[in-house]
Amino acid sequence: MKASLDAFLACEAGYDEANTVLFGVPYDSTTSFRPGARFGPKAIRSESFGLESYSPYQDRDLVDYKIFDGGDLELPFGDPVPVLAQIEETIGEILDDGKLPAMLGGEHLITLGAVRAVKKRYPDLVILHFDAHADLRAEYLGSQLTHAGVMRQCYGLGAEIFQFGIRSGDREEFVWGRDHVTTRMFDFEGLQKLVKKLAGRKVYVSLDLDVLDPSVFPGTGTPEPGGVSFQALLDACLALRGLDVVGFDVVELAPMLDASGVSTAVAGKVVRELLLAFCK
Ligand code: MN
Ligand code: MN
Repeated sequence: MKASLDAFLACEAGYDEANTVLFGVPYDSTTSFRPGARFGPKAIRSESFGLESYSPYQDRDLVDYKIFDGGDLELPFGDPVPVLAQIEETIGEILDDGKLPAMLGGEHLITLGAVRAVKKRYPDLVILHFDAHADLRAEYLGSQLTHAGVMRQCYGLGAEIFQFGIRSGDREEFVWGRDHVTTRMFDFEGLQKLVKKLAGRKVYVSLDLDVLDPSVFPGTGTPEPGGVSFQALLDACLALRGLDVVGFDVVELAPMLDASGVSTAVAGKVVRELLLAFCK
């Protein structure tokens, strides 16, 4: 019999031997518009059956790396506080075991749990944030812990934040953002230069897939027209090779919002390329 199809692509190493640990966070309770991101991780795994483990872009193959897929976290309903605590604990364990955490969302708030764990261990942390949305709201609908304010919360932990692809947010977010984070609007210009500047720094990469144009990636809770192409995102991901990445996430796929399944295929391919870019 063949190995289980449940794991993402060729990520079938055992935990102990793995250098990289992939896991899913099926959470979307603070989604403000169209929910469904909780189904993202499972969809990425099952659709990865249609994806090759070999990347012609990088001439690398997932079969050559030791990656463990730990499945999805079992989460309490609703309240983000215990969910974030569980993510922080999980990421912390992976880091303390000397492995690279790779987290599949789920909505974007889950990044906060990961950054809490990473920042504790790497105080000098830089976050690279690709997104259509600034995610800098001080609060949203009366709550501080939402996908729309996740980078504001990460800033509050003391991380230095560089954003790319941003094209949506309220005025207050942009006004605040000017003084506190570095934002490249609409595209990835300046990324190559930044990567050189970040030599020697520990970097966490947070990729909200809605940075892509909805024509490429309609399966998401808050689609925002005017986004980047798949090729542009791929080039940006490949530009990150060589950075000292200590963790990353790919969030905001809501597979049921795209009946064609293309959004899930896009997400899976992005995950493959990031794994191959950052795995040691
Ligand atoms: Mn986001
Ligand atoms: Mn977004």
